[in-house]
Amino acid sequence: MTAYDPNNIFGKILKGEIPSVRVYEDDHTVAFMDVMPHAPGHVLVIPRKGSRNILDADAEVLARTIPVVQKIANAVKEAFEADGVYIAQFNEPAAGQTVFHLHFHVIPRHEGLPLKPHSGAMEDGAVLKANAEKIKAALEG
Ligand code: 5GP
Repeated sequence: MTAYDPNNIFGKILKGEIPSVRVYEDDHTVAFMDVMPHAPGHVLVIPRKGSRNILDADAEVLARTIPVVQKIANAVKEAFEADGVYIAQFNEPAAGQTVFHLHFHVIPRHEGLPLKPHSGAMEDGAVLKANAEKIKAALEG
């Protein structure tokens, strides 16, 4: 498998070289809004320690990341009054991976409401910030 490249987009977000709308961070993990959300409240959870995807990740990193995925899943469910939460994680291009730093998609789902197709269109920054505030309030509540 190709080696991890720390200059990927999420590596740059971690270093603060690219802006992100963060909803949560701790010593090991960062969660921020996806710029091209498949539904309002679409969050990406990433470990700070770089790995290309789940295939080369340390088990210890996974053990620290999954509780944050759960925390964010509960927060987006509450913040968006969702019926369910979709968690997705892709490994290598054949599986749909486009950014090569391990990440988990956390997406609130509502009965009968399909996910938006991947349009490549960026969401308005003000909308992302407003959605992030809802999630942060749920995390604090
Ligand atoms: P993948 O297909 O690799 O699982 O998904 C990568 C995700 O990263 C996509 O949902 C895409 O919208 C998101 N993304 C790509 N570039 C950026 C960026 O610069 N900032 C943020 N916040 N999300 C990004």
